[in-house]
Order: sequence, then C-alpha cells, then structure tokens
Amino acid sequence: MPHSSGGGGGSFGGGGGSFDSGSSGSDSVHYSNNPFPGADQYVYYHHGSPHYFYSDIDPTKKPSPLRFLLLLIYLPFLAALLPMAKGIINIPKKLPIDYNTAIVINDDADVITDEAKLASSLEAFLDKTGIAPAVVTVDNETWQANYADLETYAYDWYVDNFPDENHWLIMYSEPQDPVQGDRYYWEGMQGDNTDNIITTQAAEGFNNNLNNLLAQGDRPDVSGSISKAFDDLTPTLMKVTFRPQILFMGILFFGFIIFHALGMTGVIGSRRKYRNAVQVVKGAKEVQCSACGGKYMSGTVETCPYCGAPVSGVEDIRIRTDADESVKISQPYMSNDPYDYSSGQKVRAEDIDDSELPLSQRVKGIFKPKDDIE
Ligand SMILES: [Zn+2]
Repeated sequence: MPHSSGGGGGSFGGGGGSFDSGSSGSDSVHYSNNPFPGADQYVYYHHGSPHYFYSDIDPTKKPSPLRFLLLLIYLPFLAALLPMAKGIINIPKKLPIDYNTAIVINDDADVITDEAKLASSLEAFLDKTGIAPAVVTVDNETWQANYADLETYAYDWYVDNFPDENHWLIMYSEPQDPVQGDRYYWEGMQGDNTDNIITTQAAEGFNNNLNNLLAQGDRPDVSGSISKAFDDLTPTLMKVTFRPQILFMGILFFGFIIFHALGMTGVIGSRRKYRNAVQVVKGAKEVQCSACGGKYMSGTVETCPYCGAPVSGVEDIRIRTDADESVKISQPYMSNDPYDYSSGQKVRAEDIDDSELPLSQRVKGIFKPKDDIE
C-alpha cells in the first residue's frame, strides 16, 4: 500500500507551525537511608561493612516471576530499532520499467503555469530512479466535504489510479478562489517499492525544500516550486548511503533498553542488593567478629557475613571484654537455659563455681553481654 512521504501547507500571505509535547512520571519510593513512616530498619553486608536502610516493603521477598511480563513493554522499543537498522546502509536500485510509467500532470486546480518545465523535471526524475512521478492539483472544496485531510484523499487517489507500488504522487490543494489567509495543502504519497530510493531522509529534504519554495511570495508558485524541488532532489538520489552514526545510536539505544529491562526486573540494581537484607530487630547491637574483626548486627546472621566464621554471642563479646586471653567458651554458656551438658542435669548458673576461671570464662557476668558491651 502506498504511504505518505510527508506533506505541508501554509496560508496565502503567511505560514504557521505546531509542536508536540511529552510528559513524564515518577516512581514511588520504598527504600531510604533514613527512617520514614511505616518503614522498618534492615541491614545487609557488603565490602566488609554493614549497610543500613529503611523500607516499608519486605525487601527480601523474592519477586514474582510474572515480573518478566514487564519485558513486554520493551517490545515496541525493540521494534523501533528495526527500521533504524535498515537506515544504516542503503543501496538504492532503479525500479525496472515494467509498468505504465506515463508521467501524470493533472491540473484540476488550474495552478500549473509552466507545464513543460515541470514535465521535464519529472522526466529527469523518472530516468534516474525508475519511479513514475505524478503531480495532481485539486481544489480544497473537492475533498474537504468527504475527507478529514488531504493525506487520506491522496491515498485514495493513488490506489484508484495506480495499480502498482512504483509511483510518487505529489498532490497540491488550494481553495477555488483563495483570499488572504486561506490555506493550501500538499501531500506526497509514495508506493512501497520506492522506499529504498525516496528514503525518509530524501523525502524530508524534499518536503522542507518544497515547503520553503511554496511559501515564497504572496501566493505559491506551484509548478515552479514542485519543478525546482524535483530538480534539487534528483541528483542526490541513487547514492549508496552509510550512516555509522545510526549504527552507533542503535547500539546505545539497545544497550539502554537492556540495562533498563534488567533494572526493572530486579536482575541488577538496588532491589537485588536489598534482597539479602535482614530486618534489624529492636535491641540488636553491632558486634565484632572474633575471626576477621568485621562488624555485624547481632541476631541478623548465623555465620560471619564476611569470613563465614560461626557466630557465637559469647565469642563476640569476648573481643570487647578480655581480648588478650585466648579462651574457649563452650556452648551451654551462651544460653540462659541452665543446662549442664556434661552431666545431663539442669543446673542453675548461680550454682556453678567458676571463680577460679579468668573473667571471660565465668558464667556470671557473661550472661549479661549487653552490660559488658557498655
Ligand atoms: Zn568474620
């Protein structure tokens, strides 16, 4: 199906333009370095030190595999890369003259002042490209009753008149009796087979040129402007174009999409680092590992997060209380449960006589590690 190669317009005695605008949104925050309402404190261990943060959601909760459905939103972006890839290198091939290439100039609006000159410009274009050009002028009144815009009318005109995809139709429209301020329009409609020759860039150059040419003077010189626009365009066509900047842009764009997608799905980024976090319960204290000296929060780990040494509450406190003595405290003393492992009998800590032992090995006193730390 033919498609628009672009268009334009203006008003008699002047012109105008319009702009698009975009919008942006923001994400909600669930993680912070500072406490906020509804948030609990968490800790994770990285590079030899504890990192604290606050969150009002459970950061350790494994995200649903459904999150990968999010990746679907990237499909349009990836699809947008495909035409980009086509633009990196373009080798135009002249269309074979196996269709009706008769040049059409159809001046229903009666605005073509130099048909011979226009015809020769169009002929040169056909010789170079194999694309049969057509210039059609109509009154605004012809289409405005039944069509929302000239593009739709030009499309219908193309498919009604050309059975192929090899034409380039330039349709111009102005009011039957234009007065100051009236609008004129024009639209290009190109067949699919012309895409390698009338590339987006070529069409853009042509469109800008034609818009400028038409806007000169108080009323547009239609045949002179279209003729000149073709004369300017034809010598630039059929050249092999290589645009490394598009390749470069594509790589950047693709890289950004992948990076963004990995972040969104939590494969990389802060959510992942938070996943190994542990909630800090009230009253927990920062203690030091006896093996490596690393600091961690009591009650958050079963082995040292840095060196893997087994965590013993007593051992940790020993570092702080009696560092010079090498001692081995056995397991029962860690617990407040007065259980004697050697005899199998329950004993009360108060009944154990350990007054001959070094301070760090005594049961009494070590039972209150918090006091020892202060
Ligand atoms: Zn350690």
